[in-house]
Amino acid sequence: MNNTYYSKLIFELSQPGRTGYSLPKNDVEGYCLCQLPEALSRQQEADLPECDELTVVRHYTNSSNNNFGVDTGFYPLGSCTMKYNPKLNEELAALPAFTGTHPLQPAETVQGLLALYDDVQRILSEVTGLSRFTLNPFAGAHGELTGLMTIRAYHERRGDVLRTKVLVPDSAHGTNPASAAVCGLEVVEVKSLADGTVDVDDLKEKLKACEGRVAAMMMTNPNTLGIFERRIPEIAALVHEAGGLMYYDGANLNAILGVCRPGDMGFDVMHINLHKTFSTPHGGGGPGSGPIGVRRGLEQYLPNPQVVQQADGTYTIQSDDEALGSVSAFLGNYGIVVRAYAYLLSLGRENIAMAGKLAVLNANYIKEQLKAYYKLPIDGLCKHEFVFDGMREEYGGDHHDEDAVKTLDVAKRLLDYGFHAPTIYFPLLFHEALMIEPTETESKETLDGFIEVMKKIAEEAKADRQLLKTAPHHTPVRRLDDVLAVKAAQFAFKDLT
Ligand SMILES: *Cc1c(COP(=O)(O)O)cnc(C)c1O
Repeated sequence: MNNTYYSKLIFELSQPGRTGYSLPKNDVEGYCLCQLPEALSRQQEADLPECDELTVVRHYTNSSNNNFGVDTGFYPLGSCTMKYNPKLNEELAALPAFTGTHPLQPAETVQGLLALYDDVQRILSEVTGLSRFTLNPFAGAHGELTGLMTIRAYHERRGDVLRTKVLVPDSAHGTNPASAAVCGLEVVEVKSLADGTVDVDDLKEKLKACEGRVAAMMMTNPNTLGIFERRIPEIAALVHEAGGLMYYDGANLNAILGVCRPGDMGFDVMHINLHKTFSTPHGGGGPGSGPIGVRRGLEQYLPNPQVVQQADGTYTIQSDDEALGSVSAFLGNYGIVVRAYAYLLSLGRENIAMAGKLAVLNANYIKEQLKAYYKLPIDGLCKHEFVFDGMREEYGGDHHDEDAVKTLDVAKRLLDYGFHAPTIYFPLLFHEALMIEPTETESKETLDGFIEVMKKIAEEAKADRQLLKTAPHHTPVRRLDDVLAVKAAQFAFKDLT
């Protein structure tokens, strides 16, 4: 929408005294809708926009058209698993039986809700090969923190208090080292080999250097490059031998869903992003859900409160003294759990492996079609996602030339064609990383449409580099001047302080 009138803020559309509705004056004696005590009442009118209904409707309808989501277009944002979320899940999560329940209701009155919660915990245990789950954490990163707290509690309760080191591969998602730091642990980086997998020799050296101090190793498998870590059993044996536990970042679980299980690979603790793998709208910061699971022997450290089925079949909400304290309000984001449950039951045991297999097939299909145009630093089969390192030189890419076509230019130009950009400049292993994750929910026609546009952009780069350098050309907001934006922000903050 390029009409500047409609791109105004609602406050700019405000006209003093204008209203959508007016109610007749209340003539019922002694009746008042709001009887707030004088001390709590506002002294000044709230500064709200004053608009008629039609202006409000147009404003929000036009604003919503400027938004981009899975429901409007292809969203191949690597690492984020932006799959389509069936509307059925939304309908079910919105049922009054779920939305009308108060979190402080006695357990006897919410047995059905607790049964659903426990069922999801059990299904996740089965899917991952771990012993017990909690659905309390609010997001993946929150799950990482909770998982690491569980690991720390395990070591500390045994009196093994010197274990403060966490090994993290250099390909890891930024939340891994961040969670370790928030948990009060020290990060030790482990190098990757040229094929993108963990350098086991470097791991051995780091383990030796940290003797007696290793709390855990965090890994993602397939890793953030979409490569399956084949040496996991060996890595797990080394870390276990050194007294550490294996933490699995389950954000990429979609790639191996129903095919293999982290518990069988030797992992002890993991999180799952329900909002990635098990289908829940996400982006823009939530709400999410990051359940964590642990292997047998670690169940007692999971955080409070816990949903437990009793011998008579009923459910209770329990807190245990030995467990971690609570990490979330009540039982976490229940609405997300309902969506995940609906998704799991829709797929069923028979079809769950299909999701992962199709996600892998789709990623490989795009990779093979585009590798003649974009640099593929690690060739061979990928899992659910892969990373290009910018455009090939014959089309205008060049890491050593400032004026060459950059990944940022490709990402901006994609917006002109109605596609969300892939993840760019992550992982940090490559200068011009462009990370593509199509997910299983896209049709071959959509993938073909994306491939065609990506090829076209490469041809455009060759013919008219400036077209890319100044993209996007058709979006409501054009390319921002990052330097100017930073200066303006500094100026604004200077005023505030
Ligand atoms: C998304 C992601 C996370 C963090 O999950 P959030 O739910 O965004 O907190 C961690 N690791 C990897 C590999 C991810 O892709």
